[in-house]
Amino acid sequence: MGSMHTGLEEIPNGYDRLAEFYRQRAEAGVGLIITGGIAPNEEGAAFASAAKLVNDNEVDLHRKITNVVHQHPTKICLQILHTGRYAFHPNAVSASSLQAPISPFSPKELSSDGIKKQILDFAQCAELAKKAGYDGVEIMGSEGYFINQFIALRTNQRNDEWGGCFENRIRLALEIVKAVREKTDSDFLIIFRISLLDLVENGSNWNEVLHLAKALESAGVDILNSGIGWHEARIPTIATSVPRAAFTEFTHKLKSEVSVPLIATNRINTPEIAENIIASGQADLVCLARPFLADPKFVSKAQEGKPELINTCIACNQACLDHTFELKLTSCLVNPSACHETLFITKPATVAKTIAVVGAGPAGMACAVTLSERGHSVTLYEQQSEIGGQFNLAKKIPGKEDYQETVRYFKTQIARLNVNLKLNTKVTHSELINFESVVIATGVTPRKIDLPGFDHSNVVSYVDVLNGSVEIGNRVAIIGAGGIGFDVAEFLLHKSGRDINEFQKFWGIDASGENPGGVSIPIIEEPARAISLLQRKSGKLGSTLGKTTGWIHRAELKLHKVRMLSSVTYKKFDEAGLHILIDNKPEILDVDHVVVCAGQVEYAPFFQELVDQGIHVHLIGGAKKAGELDAKTAIKEGTELALRL
Ligand code: NAP
Ligand code: SF4
Repeated sequence: MGSMHTGLEEIPNGYDRLAEFYRQRAEAGVGLIITGGIAPNEEGAAFASAAKLVNDNEVDLHRKITNVVHQHPTKICLQILHTGRYAFHPNAVSASSLQAPISPFSPKELSSDGIKKQILDFAQCAELAKKAGYDGVEIMGSEGYFINQFIALRTNQRNDEWGGCFENRIRLALEIVKAVREKTDSDFLIIFRISLLDLVENGSNWNEVLHLAKALESAGVDILNSGIGWHEARIPTIATSVPRAAFTEFTHKLKSEVSVPLIATNRINTPEIAENIIASGQADLVCLARPFLADPKFVSKAQEGKPELINTCIACNQACLDHTFELKLTSCLVNPSACHETLFITKPATVAKTIAVVGAGPAGMACAVTLSERGHSVTLYEQQSEIGGQFNLAKKIPGKEDYQETVRYFKTQIARLNVNLKLNTKVTHSELINFESVVIATGVTPRKIDLPGFDHSNVVSYVDVLNGSVEIGNRVAIIGAGGIGFDVAEFLLHKSGRDINEFQKFWGIDASGENPGGVSIPIIEEPARAISLLQRKSGKLGSTLGKTTGWIHRAELKLHKVRMLSSVTYKKFDEAGLHILIDNKPEILDVDHVVVCAGQVEYAPFFQELVDQGIHVHLIGGAKKAGELDAKTAIKEGTELALRL
């Protein structure tokens, strides 16, 4: 289980909650856990109050974790994370005083003595980790953090013994490993996360990566983990549009060059993918992180030969990385109990009731399975022929194919927990009043726009486009630049997700290893259509998209020459096209079709009627508030209600 910062590291009683978080994963059979990154000193901390391990008081907190994990045959290593110039505070330090494009702070260039202090701090942190009962440490040497900043010319412009030639630039990494080894025993695991692919200009080339890997092995590293891409890289590495196991070939390339075990990482989210990597000899270990947020029992379900029961990580980043970067507690869109284990407790219901859940979208599915798990007798009504709601549209977006895994997961849970599923059923009011409790999870309907010509058959809703019920022309205007406007644009630009080869070409990844940083010139496929994406607001389009993924969607559209227009007023549609004003200047967009992606409105039939009749009724998800509709809120609300009823 790979390193993930949960945010629990910094809150009162957080270590009790962390202990339960790790305990559940250890109990379910994870072989080796690597903790979230912990700083070896103040200057290396990710933000001013970020967790550090620098004294004995902190050792006691960490023992809470190691004690519970070691009740199972699981090893646990502490990740030592020094963020260098990525630190979000004014005391940041680095090889050179070069500000990162993703940070508002300029780091101080370390003196030679300053560097020696950092090395001692790493060693002290490892010593304290040993004292706290950890089986080892992972030294974070990739992703553009402190050690990586010394290794790459991009960030190291020194001309002393710590800069200049490659031997000098890797000196820090090697000295840290040696110092850690000196302070710990030979059976204390040292994992080094090496950057196999920086994905930034002036990064390492493959020969340099090889050289470093061999030197690390000689310095006493036990395991090498694969780091892919600096945080400032503008190439996606873990988002849902990244093909599964997209970067394993780089770990494989290293395999014959070193004798220490290698860990493969990034977009490994099913047991089949993991097993294939090991069975084909591409790596010795596989490291999954977010999949353990989505399902703490990933390993035990795989071991039991029941992979279909796994709640699969869909790589959306919406409740994990987006939360981390917004300094909120980490959780998971498909599993809201992640990092909230002590708060989401599924107890048997005190009184088992008959409950109707109307609507089998994310909110309704989550509510129905948790209610059933607690012993209620649940009937789930869905007027469509399949469960999934908005996820059935999302899974059609190129690169979002993994969303179908969530629908599969709920399908298996509904069957396993004997939820009485009624598909193709428009439930009636008279049926609902026979239940002891009713949950309305009927979701949303697309917002319509009432303007001259908008009743024309060439003005269509995103639902018709994604369902394939209309044939869309080559010139398209999309009204609305929220998540769905962007999704529809991608759908109209290329019909399917990219395989690894196409992905490398599109994003400019050099697999040959010759180019510094592993970057090359992108080869952009010809867009299928000419698209204009419009919004009424002023400012940049896509400002409501996810913090860690919005840039990917914007880049996709920009690379495909999508025209992005803000400050637009819509006037009418006719044979000439879509008539608009941009900053009050008239323009006609000569388009074949207009696709309306103007958000949604609540759809909650029966609710008020049932309330008025005194029926015990609840409203959740988009049916309650379409404006904030998203699957994260929907699944969370559905689960929370089910735990209360
Ligand atoms: P949305 O995010 O609310 O965006 C609706 C868009 O329509 C906005 O650009 C809005 O911008 C415009 N609009 C609203 N009312 C309008 C009107 N009366 N006339 C013309 N334009 C209007 O809704 P969505 O895109 O349908 O997404 C729904 C939810 O799904 C969101 O909460 C989102 O979180 C989630 N989602 C996210 C992603 C993602 O992050 N990649 C993808 C899909 C869905 P103006 O008012 O400026 O015109
Ligand atoms: Fe995976 Fe999304 Fe959950 Fe993060 S929030 S763990 S990316 S499913």
